[in-house]
Amino acid sequence: MSRKKILVTGGAGFVGSHLCERLLNEGNEVYCLDNFFTGQKQNVVHLLDNPYFELIRHDVTAPFFIETDEIYNLACPASPIHYQYNAIKTMKTSVMGAINMLGLAKRVNAKILQASTSEVYGDPLVHPQPESYWGHVNPIGERACYDEGKRSAETLFINYHKQNNVKIKIIRIFNTYGPKMHPNDGRVVSNFIVQALQNQDITVYGQGNQTRSFQYVDDLVEGMIRLMNSKDSFTGPVNVGNPNEFTILELAQKVIELTGSKSRIIYQPLPSDDPMQRQPDISIAKKELDWSPKVNLDEGLIKTIDFFKSII
Ligand code: NAD
Ligand code: UDP
Repeated sequence: MSRKKILVTGGAGFVGSHLCERLLNEGNEVYCLDNFFTGQKQNVVHLLDNPYFELIRHDVTAPFFIETDEIYNLACPASPIHYQYNAIKTMKTSVMGAINMLGLAKRVNAKILQASTSEVYGDPLVHPQPESYWGHVNPIGERACYDEGKRSAETLFINYHKQNNVKIKIIRIFNTYGPKMHPNDGRVVSNFIVQALQNQDITVYGQGNQTRSFQYVDDLVEGMIRLMNSKDSFTGPVNVGNPNEFTILELAQKVIELTGSKSRIIYQPLPSDDPMQRQPDISIAKKELDWSPKVNLDEGLIKTIDFFKSII
């Protein structure tokens, strides 16, 4: 069997660590690159004994060279508190990271996948969101460093493809949760579970009537690998997410029920530019990748709750 050499940037993060593990299990050689801003060695420590796994400390805003067949470009903080902590660095990571990784892909003739996001749709005026929707993003708002950084990265990807024939894939990831999320990263699923397990107040922002569609991490990893292995003429962008839409209040109630917590729900101000609704249209993923999500919210939350019980 010929082993593929695969570079995963942001490989020590939540999604990246699941992806590295899956790629290794499939018999590939994996190079996990990370600057450990939001990722942790802990997420990949169990892979370090595998001779086909290498952990590299590097920042994607600087060029990086390695012989590789495929690149999954995930490096970028993903939770609002982390990407807003240093907005300029977040944009540099998306834009310069994309340029550096696309340059590498061009040089070594590797296929490259960009982890884009449903945030490219901003606070959407079209519901559910198909890939053809151009989005509704405030370019100077709190979320702009992330949203516009990811939008610019998509532009770079498509133009490296058109001008330089780089083989690209763009995946637009909708809210994803699961084991190995950082307990303090401020995202809603991790916040609610940690609060519920500690019988602390559950912090719903706004009235809790805003919606999100939550995807379990294993479904995402399956979608990413199917996209990478799809025919070269299919570049995406393609939405990968679970269309089951819930209000944030419903999520809070579900977490309380599944943990048997004594927590009560409290309401805090809604952050600015917080999207009111989000639901993927996954027709293209179904057609082109024969992909649809398999794990429902209760099932995924139970696994995630078990993980948090083991670390807090
Ligand atoms: P995460 O914060 O756990 O992982 C991001 C990883 O990138 C971390 O390990 C971090 O240390 C690393 N990183 C950040 N800046 C870097 C830099 N300059 N150089 C090298 N490494 C750097 O987040 P995640 O949820 O695992 O997200 C992974 C990717 O998927 C991100 O690109 C994110 O935008 C995208 N995404 C995630 C979601 C989601 O719900 N989890 C949704 C949409 C898109
Ligand atoms: N949210 C909340 N309480 C929290 C954390 C988040 O009500 O403790 C809300 C947040 O305002 C948003 C939704 O949950 O409407 C999802 O937030 P998250 O940061 O997980 O993802 P994103 O807004 O980027 O989709």
